[in-house]
Amino acid sequence: MLQVTFHGAAETVTGSQHLVDVDGAQLLLDCGLFQGRRSESYERNRLPPYDVQQVQAVLLSHAHTDHSANLPSLARLGFAGKVHCTHATKDLAALMLRDSAKIQVSDTEFINKIRRRHHEPPVEPLYLPEHAEAVLGSLQGQAYNEKFSVLPYVAATYYDAGHILGSASIVCELDTVAGLRTIGFSGDLGRNDMPILRDPVELDTELDLLIMEGTYGNRQHETPADAVEALAAVVRRVCESGGKLIIPAFAVGRAQELTYWLHRLMEAGRVPRIPVFVDSPLASGVSKVFGDHSAIFDEETLAFIGTHPQGALRFKELTYVASADESRALNERSGPYIVISASGMCEAGRILHHLRNNIGDPRNIILIVSWQAEHTLGRRLVERQPRVRIFGEEFAVHAQVQVINGLSAHADQAGLLRWAGALRGRVKQVALVHGEPDALQALRAQMLAAGFPSVHIPKMHETLQIP
Ligand SMILES: [Zn+2]
Ligand SMILES: [Zn+2]
Repeated sequence: MLQVTFHGAAETVTGSQHLVDVDGAQLLLDCGLFQGRRSESYERNRLPPYDVQQVQAVLLSHAHTDHSANLPSLARLGFAGKVHCTHATKDLAALMLRDSAKIQVSDTEFINKIRRRHHEPPVEPLYLPEHAEAVLGSLQGQAYNEKFSVLPYVAATYYDAGHILGSASIVCELDTVAGLRTIGFSGDLGRNDMPILRDPVELDTELDLLIMEGTYGNRQHETPADAVEALAAVVRRVCESGGKLIIPAFAVGRAQELTYWLHRLMEAGRVPRIPVFVDSPLASGVSKVFGDHSAIFDEETLAFIGTHPQGALRFKELTYVASADESRALNERSGPYIVISASGMCEAGRILHHLRNNIGDPRNIILIVSWQAEHTLGRRLVERQPRVRIFGEEFAVHAQVQVINGLSAHADQAGLLRWAGALRGRVKQVALVHGEPDALQALRAQMLAAGFPSVHIPKMHETLQIP
């Protein structure tokens, strides 16, 4: 018997985790954090709806929070198996999970302070640093394109998904009682012609089931080239005004991509050489991991670092800000300069101090380069609200707010269809995950029109049989 149950990222984007049952043995694809309203997410993340001690192994697609950051909860609940991932994902996960455990602890302290005031009993952190360490000890790094053994009757191969460093699509071969079956999992798919990363690799195999993401199943992106042109124009504008360019960015992926583009633009003389600060300890750590894994960069970036031995993510104008004191000192510094800081949706972290200190000056530009969820400060800025609250205090927004959409790390509809196209006629069933219902419905219609026989959009906790 072979079946897959979709315990996360079903008609939504976060909490990726799909449980594969192979003749009674359990295998997990991803173990992401569900993100949403706090009380609901806390319960859902804390108690996965399956017996964790029965899970024998995890196959992790990439290091993003919504795919990896609930792994420590497995350790807390007694998981004793191996977690397979690519070598780069292993190094990124070490940074991400330690950071995530710290956040869980500090968030809980904050919440308990409020609960005490309301005479409510304290809550426990979702997990502790020791749980993150336990799961990091079970990570097994794997190379791309090389089949490895997961369980005696299960083998898997990772292929580059071109989404973030180390990201992978997975092909899983399962020797079931009924015969050999193959499941493909897209993971999150990147885009062609993105900086640093190779293009997503199309799968070249027959599949009994394809589990595929559809985040932008109903959208078309600007090209990366247009996005870089827009970035250059914004940098030139801030140089003219003498202001500061403040860019909230996710620490993993987006911060490195921006750093690389700024390096190339300054090098090519397309923007003036002004100071650039990456002000996020996590982003700085991630940039170092990028440097350690340059072997999996695309050819263009490899050629570039061939003539720039210090690496793609280091240049004279660039400073990685380490201490909180150095970060504060930036406030005293006059423009023009650029600061890239986390968190990407302006919900926490050092970016809040930069916004607070600079949001009132019309010479400054706040540049939004990634999707902003509802109810976040980032979203309010995108909506051009005239006044926003930061650390409980109200500020008038006089700085200019600029949005660039073309830097998305996810394939758009055309990209998804191109990637899936290689599997046309070779897939028995498709399950679309990791997208809002509208996006998945649009992608489903396109895939049916393209000749895929059975395209399903699983509900949360729904089980799909593979005959
Ligand atoms: Zn991702
Ligand atoms: Zn994702």
